[in-house]
Amino acid sequence: MRSGPRAPSSGGAGAVRPERTCVGCGGKAPSAELVRLVVAGEAVAIDRRRSGGRGAWLHPAPACLERALKRKAFGRAFRRAVVVDGDLLRGQLTGSWRKD
Ligand SMILES: [Zn+2]
Repeated sequence: MRSGPRAPSSGGAGAVRPERTCVGCGGKAPSAELVRLVVAGEAVAIDRRRSGGRGAWLHPAPACLERALKRKAFGRAFRRAVVVDGDLLRGQLTGSWRKD
């Protein structure tokens, strides 16, 4: 019979799952279900490499993008003035998440 130290489990189920808040609808979801956005230069772009730095999270849904644009949520998320190309982002959102 082997006895080893067991990792103390504190908290309940799901405590280790990081959740992010969508800047569009304000809903929370696991980071795997959201798209990470970063500022490249002055423009908001999708970050596929999950690099460091300040990021904003968004559902890969046009509705959430529209809401974020209307609420000017990106400027708030990045705490600076940013340029958002809505059409470009919309294309990247739908294109990157379409799976055949
Ligand atoms: Zn959302």
